[in-house]
Amino acid sequence: MNREKWYARTPDEVVAFWQTNLFDGLSASEVKNRLDKFGYNELAEKEKTAWWKRFLAQFQDFMVLVLLGATLISAFLGEYADAITILIIVLMNAVLGFIQEYRAEQSLAALKKLASPTARVIRNSIVQQIPARELVPGDILVLEAGDRLAADGRLIDVNNLEVEEAALTGESTPVRKIADRKFSEDAPLGDRKNMVFAGTSIVRGRGKAVVCASGMATEVGHIAGMIQAAADEATPLERRLEHLGKWLVLGCLAICLVVVITGVAKGESLFLMCMAGISLAVAAIPEGLPAIVTVALALGVQRMIKQRAIIRKLPAVETLGCTTVICSDKTGTLTQNAMTVRQIFTDGNIYEITGAGYDIKGSFLLNQQEVDVSKDKSLQQCLTIGALCNNSVLKHNNVTITGVWRKKNTSGWSIEGDPTEGAIIVAAAKAGIWQAEAEKTKKRLAEIPFESERRRMSVVYRDESDIHTLYTKGAPDTILELCRYYQTAAGPASLTAERIANINLINEQMASQALRVLAVAYRRLTRDQAHNPDESLENNLVFAGLIGMIDPPREEVKSSIALCREAGIKTVMITGDHKNTAIAIAQELQIYKENQNRAITGKELDAMSESDLDAIVNSITVYARVSPAHKLRIVRALKRQGHIVAMTGDGVNDAPAIKEADIGVAMGLTGTDVTKEASAMVLADDNFATIVAAVEEGRGIYENIRKFIRYLLSCNIGEVLTMFLAALLGLPMPLLPVQILWVNLVTDGLPAMALGIDPNDPNIMRRPPRPPGESVFSRGLSRKIIGRGIQIGLSTLFVFNVVYYFQNDLALARTAAFATLVYCQMFHVFDCRSETSTIFELKFTSNKYLLMAVIFSTIMQLSVMYIPFLSSIFSTVPLSLGNWALILTVSGWTLIVNAFKHLFTHRPARRAALPQNR
Ligand code: ATP
Repeated sequence: MNREKWYARTPDEVVAFWQTNLFDGLSASEVKNRLDKFGYNELAEKEKTAWWKRFLAQFQDFMVLVLLGATLISAFLGEYADAITILIIVLMNAVLGFIQEYRAEQSLAALKKLASPTARVIRNSIVQQIPARELVPGDILVLEAGDRLAADGRLIDVNNLEVEEAALTGESTPVRKIADRKFSEDAPLGDRKNMVFAGTSIVRGRGKAVVCASGMATEVGHIAGMIQAAADEATPLERRLEHLGKWLVLGCLAICLVVVITGVAKGESLFLMCMAGISLAVAAIPEGLPAIVTVALALGVQRMIKQRAIIRKLPAVETLGCTTVICSDKTGTLTQNAMTVRQIFTDGNIYEITGAGYDIKGSFLLNQQEVDVSKDKSLQQCLTIGALCNNSVLKHNNVTITGVWRKKNTSGWSIEGDPTEGAIIVAAAKAGIWQAEAEKTKKRLAEIPFESERRRMSVVYRDESDIHTLYTKGAPDTILELCRYYQTAAGPASLTAERIANINLINEQMASQALRVLAVAYRRLTRDQAHNPDESLENNLVFAGLIGMIDPPREEVKSSIALCREAGIKTVMITGDHKNTAIAIAQELQIYKENQNRAITGKELDAMSESDLDAIVNSITVYARVSPAHKLRIVRALKRQGHIVAMTGDGVNDAPAIKEADIGVAMGLTGTDVTKEASAMVLADDNFATIVAAVEEGRGIYENIRKFIRYLLSCNIGEVLTMFLAALLGLPMPLLPVQILWVNLVTDGLPAMALGIDPNDPNIMRRPPRPPGESVFSRGLSRKIIGRGIQIGLSTLFVFNVVYYFQNDLALARTAAFATLVYCQMFHVFDCRSETSTIFELKFTSNKYLLMAVIFSTIMQLSVMYIPFLSSIFSTVPLSLGNWALILTVSGWTLIVNAFKHLFTHRPARRAALPQNR
């Protein structure tokens, strides 16, 4: 039934077929029935790999397979206890790896759900945003520029609707859609201009459509291969670590070989030495490194969700920490986007408007005196244009207001739609002019929609006397260029140069007070013109007035910008608003300082060559009157200067700049689907402060990755070195194969994972951004890793030798070495928490997971040493108090020495370096 040829039917037929209603949509109960009948609007998922298959995949590692083979041989040779123990350890390791992978996958799946698309529909007579998967046939879709279609639908109403269907038809130029025509049944997909299809996106205009096919019944559902999302990308760090891993494997294998050969040459059994060599290789090769990086990234991403930043591309987490410039839209991101009209200029007078927010209480003052708007024709005209040339709706307690002079309880007013338009509707309501009331006598015939590039919108109305009028509102400079007349109380007069100069002056004044200013204008149309309106009619307008509204900065943004400054990150404001408005707000937020920063307009930008721009781009902090196309130039210029750029955007046309930026940031509330898809990160609350929080989190995640790389590699070096040096020095083997494997299990598992979720260093935003190409081992990390690895190896060997020499008991010496190796790592893990602070400066308890992991590992280690059954398997013997004193001193001395060193040398210097303003 879903493959019906809807494009060959009239809208009425389709509406009737689906038993729906253009104005009310479906009811909740009907939606439920249809969901049961047609299922969710989803494409069939790729079959998931069964959990047991993924568990088995843990054993695919070559060295693990060799170990398992060797274990099997040892079982044949009668070494049952050893074989079983090795098997259990390998199993426990696999469980740990499996859990890590599973957690990473769950976090990423949760992310995908969060970033999943929504659709705007009419249901129960209300326009609402719903998850796209809940769309059912018969739903009435409300379409706007920037929407990504989530189902196939037959159009029933269009207004300049243009759709990009390249994903489906390969045709890259947008297709202009028509609602009121039928097409022949054999029309190819690309010619079905009265249909919209899932997977395509709306470039311009508005429209309504009845959903005719959802899920696998859509055209895209029929095309195999397009069904699955793109493969998950490996992050640069993961790739680099994979590369490094290969070298480490080779190095480890070579060393293991030396250990085996020298052991055998010294007379040890070939079998024992092979087992030791293989165990050492399994323990020391950091094959899990890229996997742990993924886990750390995925868990960090979950933390970001709590901060309201949704990461869409994992590599972005790494890049976030390198950000040097954040280019942010003004309206809604730096400001509250809660507009209130404060001033209106019309017919030579400036009126002040009182009241707050969207509450309709407020009055109009002229020279401090309240005015009766019903007697002021020019003011009325201004507000009427503003109210009619408007697509927002004023609501009271969620009930749409339709009457005049409602004087009930006036709290609880809200706006549905664009806040700029909402503010004008509220101002009109304060004057008793209601959009719905005005529309009783006037009928909207058409709309030329608002677009950022045009900076204006127009509507065409016919009134009861059959007079057709075009109402326009938009940026004053744009509108003024289209005007020829000037509205006075006596009617339109000519727009003289003197009047233009005066309007410009008032506009500048209003803008300098941080007001966003819109101009309103109108013109009469002939019937013919009114029925075929387009942009060419937007001229010869009568200038009616200026409307100035305030949009206060967001409270939290000021401190976020200050934090950015400390962190070496520059903030740049990009806005379509007037330069003066932009500068006024930028000054308040301390983005712009006179004589220090520059503010330029889109026009000035156009006049500049790339090299002109390159020369000054570092000093520009405000771009005003820019259109989305300029954003691309700005990103490129900043990138040429070596910056790592985060760029925000919401409209369809912002998508190219967002894609080009190192971190494309889309608005979760106001952003279009197309922009979100192009972005690396979506802000659930559209707030600038969230970007900064995400940058901080990004830096933290990277630091955590460095922490556990430092920990894992130095521990592995320690293990290898212990065995290697013993072999070179002709000593007996200090650790048995099962002991080596055990050390690997208790130290590499939980403590390393806990390091990956260490809380951020409080100083993390007081450092400059990390250079993007920087090696993960830079800033002295490799030195630290190698140094500590040598120390762990020598400490273990030292304890082994001392005990062996003085007590002449090989089992005892091995037990002591076994414990030393584990406790060296348990102490070392705390050192790894910071590269600059001592353990006394970091709150010891701030990472509870790490404490728990270390306690758990300690208990595990003691159990294999003191539970008789286990100690026989691990060949351990009880240690004396003297032995323990030796072990703990040797394992822990660096921590104590380091702590003292930091306490006496670093601390006062660092304190002095801290900025005072936080
Ligand atoms: P930002 O500061 O985030 O860039 P913006 O609102 O300034 O946002 P646009 O939405 O591109 O940027 O608007 C550009 C200009 O168009 C505004 O400065 C304003 O003059 C005008 N404008 C904005 N909204 C409307 C509207 N609904 N109708 C008519 N003109 C508008």
